[in-house]
Amino acid sequence: MKGPGKYVFAFEEGDGKNKMLLGGKGANLCEMTQIGLNVPPGFVITTESCLYYLDSKEHDLPVGLMDEVRSHMSALEQKTGKHFGASDNPLLVSVRSGSAMSMPGMMDTILNLGLNIETLKGLIARTGNERFGWDAYRRFIQLFGKVALGVPDEEFDVEFEAVKQKAGAKQDVALSARDLHEISDRFLDVVERVTGKPFPDDPMEQLEIAVKAVFGSWTGRRAVDYRREFNITPDMANGTAVNVVTMVFGNLGDDCATGVGFTRYPDTGENRLFGEYLVNAQGEDVVAGIRTPKPIDALQEEMPEMYQELLELRNRLESHYREVQDFEFTIENGRFYCLQTRNGKMNAVALVRTSVEMEREGLINKQEALLRIQPALLEQLLFPRLDPSTRATPVARGLPASPGAAVGHAVFDADRAEKQGRDGLRVILVREETKPEDIHGFFASQGILTARGGKTSHAAVVARGMGKPCVAGAEGIHVDVTMRKAFVGDSTISEGDLITIDGTSGDVYIGAVQMIEADFSSELNTLLQWADDVARLKVMANADTPQDADRALKYGAMGIGLCRTERMFNAVDRLPVVVEMIVAETTDARQQALDKLLPIQREDFKGIFKIMAPRPVTIRLLDPPIHEFLPSENQLVEELDQLRHLKDTVMGMNILSDAVRFMYSGQQQPSIDCLIDPRLVEEAVEKKEAMLKKVRALYEVNPMLGHRGVRLGLSFPEIYSMQISAVLEAAAECRKEGFDVQPEIMVPQVCTAQELNRVKSYVDAVHQVVEQKYGVSVNFKFGSMMEVVRACMRAGSLAEEAEFFSFGTNDLTQATFSFSREDAENKFLPMYNERGILQDNPFEVLDIKGVGKLMELAIGWGRETRPGMKVGICGEHGGHPASISFCHAIGLSYVSCSGPRVPVARLAAAHAALLEAQS
Ligand code: ADP
Ligand code: MG
Ligand code: MG
Repeated sequence: MKGPGKYVFAFEEGDGKNKMLLGGKGANLCEMTQIGLNVPPGFVITTESCLYYLDSKEHDLPVGLMDEVRSHMSALEQKTGKHFGASDNPLLVSVRSGSAMSMPGMMDTILNLGLNIETLKGLIARTGNERFGWDAYRRFIQLFGKVALGVPDEEFDVEFEAVKQKAGAKQDVALSARDLHEISDRFLDVVERVTGKPFPDDPMEQLEIAVKAVFGSWTGRRAVDYRREFNITPDMANGTAVNVVTMVFGNLGDDCATGVGFTRYPDTGENRLFGEYLVNAQGEDVVAGIRTPKPIDALQEEMPEMYQELLELRNRLESHYREVQDFEFTIENGRFYCLQTRNGKMNAVALVRTSVEMEREGLINKQEALLRIQPALLEQLLFPRLDPSTRATPVARGLPASPGAAVGHAVFDADRAEKQGRDGLRVILVREETKPEDIHGFFASQGILTARGGKTSHAAVVARGMGKPCVAGAEGIHVDVTMRKAFVGDSTISEGDLITIDGTSGDVYIGAVQMIEADFSSELNTLLQWADDVARLKVMANADTPQDADRALKYGAMGIGLCRTERMFNAVDRLPVVVEMIVAETTDARQQALDKLLPIQREDFKGIFKIMAPRPVTIRLLDPPIHEFLPSENQLVEELDQLRHLKDTVMGMNILSDAVRFMYSGQQQPSIDCLIDPRLVEEAVEKKEAMLKKVRALYEVNPMLGHRGVRLGLSFPEIYSMQISAVLEAAAECRKEGFDVQPEIMVPQVCTAQELNRVKSYVDAVHQVVEQKYGVSVNFKFGSMMEVVRACMRAGSLAEEAEFFSFGTNDLTQATFSFSREDAENKFLPMYNERGILQDNPFEVLDIKGVGKLMELAIGWGRETRPGMKVGICGEHGGHPASISFCHAIGLSYVSCSGPRVPVARLAAAHAALLEAQS
């Protein structure tokens, strides 16, 4: 096989932009050298040589590579005045790996290469420091033995400890030159024993072995695992380069030091030098944590000139790279060297702050400021989260159902949660699963934890809507409501115990874990403003209540893309009226209940309209099957059973009471309280029986595909008419009060244009009445959800009536795959993902090839009928950056997502526009 021709680049000649060829570390060493920073002389062996080596049958280095290396070593000798392998002023080098992507810990660096008994003598003579010399030697033998020859660390550790003990030394620094000499000898023996060959003495042979070891490490277990874990593909990083760098010593005395620096604070982003250093130490000591390093500010006192050099380096690095840098330095006898630089890894807080500040400093432009932050990272800022510096161990793990973390006292039913919450206690509602009637407990809780249910379980959906943290389906937990205890493995949580849940990871902890509050800084606002300026997609929020709307506005929502009216029905004071409406046997009785609901809904809408004015608010008419508002059949049967028992008891009490009155007539009677009228019980039994009958009548085999959405609306027109009246009346009242409101009425589950036409006729009728009644004109838009495959296929005809479309991609994904989400996620999806049958969970990551194709077709057909038609997406996908970029590409007008994800979506929408312009 023919190699690439040129395998080795001196730091003076390598192309600092070509990380694929030279690796990140190598490219930056070249670049730093070329801009005049003080980097020890060295050279890079290319990643192509590595690939050649790995591809060759016998693992041969490309022909001519070692010749190039030799001539570059001669050049190093020229530059440094030292000699490789000489006993007088020997040249020592480090051999460092580095691929295009930083892969920490992939391979250890070999330091002090070139040492043997002869060169060691030279080193000791040069430095006049025998202890230093032997220390360097034993470090080299161990590192080379381990990294290049595969000798296990423990083999060395045993010998090291033995000598240390013999010498009575507690710490490594207490070892004398003689001890280190003995250690070196023992290490040499270890290598010979384990490898069957003496330790290689010839420096050029050492170098060749080391280069091969670095190349080989690319396919080693650690590297392969790392690439798999972080999805590093060959087009991101292919093979590793080898950097050969002249050794400089930070451990030659007290005018020597070594350290690491960050050009800005990596945790806060503050524009101030951050770092740590150690005097008289070698680089690895800082990282290894053997000695505790000092904060970089102390260097100002200790070595003021060096500190100035450091500040200078910091400015040069930033102005050159226009990015926060993370660098390594070593000071050898008062001379300052930079050994490495790379882009600093920062948390979201620091990224946002540095983006805005670097733009203001003129270092980067707005586009760069936006593009250097991955949208998903912003989520960190928008929820309270666990303090990463505290390391608590979770007792259970469930699904990360609604992001954010919460600490509170465990409470096992909604009533108590509400009561204690009102009393000012921070509580977490812990249930096997939750139901609509638990809703009041949600309001009072910091977070919700359930033992059963998936990401679309009641608990998950409601918590997400409210922006409260939720861990769902934590199967390790068993809740016993009557005992007021929950059991997790060997631990028991009693009611009132503090627990912590992390809805971002799904982890559950016993006790209170330290938290960091959410933080919507002014810098974040600035950054997102820039994002809105470049984005084409508008970002709306899903919000069901005025409180949700208020919060969405703070996150920068440009309107409400989905307001689910049924969520309003769930409030404690409303559910009974809703139930009354459902169980009504006659249209009249139903109308009576609806008449009570109308003003309530109208007030809700008014609240939302006013908050959002003049932004659009899209209201979806009732969607779920109505039995969802009723108790379950099982629960009713059980309650009826208990009521019937109670009836006997109550009768017994009455008999007792009569008896007492008879026995004590004329005297003072013992009081018997808690008398209940048996008729009351009778009445309750009747009510429950009626309810049970209704529940049984409403029973559906497949409720999600059954009597719901527009189908329900057409069966009971009075329900939709009430909702439409509430919307339009609210709009009229707002108009009268001077608010500019933009209501949009949206019909769910549509599959044919006929359905839309009929609902539109109700809307028109109500509209006329409302305009007459209020004497104002009321504008509104009328549109269709697109969540049924047939609707997509008939988009052209739906668009004749619909002024806008909104893709409900959760249902549409279910319909396209014919998967029910809960079953899929709980049963076979993980297996599908694991075996690569499906790449992602299509309910989290929009399935571009299938569902996306359908969307694309529907948009095209819709806009043929109605040019420029407004089309959006509501549902979880609307907040997912990759899906947003697709939505941009197919020309959607807006995405709508839960409030806290709005900032993520705003940045993602900007990225989509910027990246499109770039390509
Ligand atoms: P990593 O990729 O793990 O950071 P490095 O190649 O940067 O590995 O090296 C590990 C340590 O060795 C660092 O502290 C670095 O500063 C130090 N080091 C590497 N090369 C030299 C050298 N030529 N002279 C002095 N110290 C060095
Ligand atoms: Mg390093
Ligand atoms: Mg739907």
